[in-house]
Amino acid sequence: MNFMNVKMNLKTLTSSQLLTETKMIVSEERRITAKLIEHLTEINQRLLFLKLGYSSLFEFVTKELGLSEGATQRRVQAMRLMQDLPETRQAYEEGSLSLSNAAKLQSHFQAIKKSGATKTIEEKKAIAKNVENKSQSECDQMLFRLAPELPKPEKTKILSPTARELKFSISEELFKKIERLRELLGHSHPNATLAELIELLVNSHLTKLEKAKGLQPKMVQKCDERDQKPAAKTQKSADLNQKSTDKNSDEMGENPKTRYVNADQTDKVDKSNLVHTAAKTLPAGIEVMLPVGVGVALPVGIRVALPSAMKRQVWSKADGRCEYEYQGRRCSSRYQLEIDHVNSLALGGSNELSNLRLICRNHNGFFAIQTLGLAKMSSFRK
Ligand SMILES: [Zn+2]
Repeated sequence: MNFMNVKMNLKTLTSSQLLTETKMIVSEERRITAKLIEHLTEINQRLLFLKLGYSSLFEFVTKELGLSEGATQRRVQAMRLMQDLPETRQAYEEGSLSLSNAAKLQSHFQAIKKSGATKTIEEKKAIAKNVENKSQSECDQMLFRLAPELPKPEKTKILSPTARELKFSISEELFKKIERLRELLGHSHPNATLAELIELLVNSHLTKLEKAKGLQPKMVQKCDERDQKPAAKTQKSADLNQKSTDKNSDEMGENPKTRYVNADQTDKVDKSNLVHTAAKTLPAGIEVMLPVGVGVALPVGIRVALPSAMKRQVWSKADGRCEYEYQGRRCSSRYQLEIDHVNSLALGGSNELSNLRLICRNHNGFFAIQTLGLAKMSSFRK
């Protein structure tokens, strides 16, 4: 049936029939969206997006499936809510819970978790039930009343090809610090606007990080919009078989809760921490902070701090982008990059430059799964 026929047929419908059919289509649309979310859940469980060279499920849905950023955000957040509270899927399909409110609920629960508070499943169920049949603004108001201390969700809006509008809340303490900074910069930057102050701070921080990582300034400044956050700072050293909890797992909910890191994935290795960590995982008597150089053969399982010069070489070799590649598609993420051994130390890999690569945290976790197996990484897949 072509479009014209549909159009003609609609003209023949009575208003009552038209209304009935429209309601059926809306119901069908919800059913199909729920089905899509179900498929996304499976793709997420399999980490298929990582295999295909995307650094996140969000990136996969926008680039591979072609959905808008907003539509993706709502579906991915709803997916996470439905995983946590399966009954919300039924509420969505029945039309009592909108996709927008499902996404708001999930963001609310994530913000609560990030604040350090906890909510039981029963408490979450009760909140989700209360959100049913509410408009977006009613949902906003209800969630605000439940936790007025939580910061409001950050928003970014494209105003033009060269301008964006950012919206976020800050603490009174931070606001006072900004005012103090404005005063101190009174001579060099009189009447600086907030945007000018942020640019000043960002440029200063970027310059330091670029220098530390051996990158040309233009590399970081040309970040894709998805990768505007600065590269990850110091990560705790850990053995390949040691989990490290990531409490800042937002990023549209794509960062895994747990991950595997190597000691040499640090930007600035805290030596005391390295020794402490290694002491828990290595046989007694082994000195961890061995002198390290390119090509030095090291015993299996020993984690070492790579020389800064070598780290800069790895970053430079990779152009400061994730080097994971699948069938010609390179991840290229600039977010949360880590230095990784192509052949792991545990399996006899060397510390030579040729055995080192730069990969994003999610692909590092993906490699760990390939090395250790899905069973051991079940928590990563949540
Ligand atoms: Zn990657």
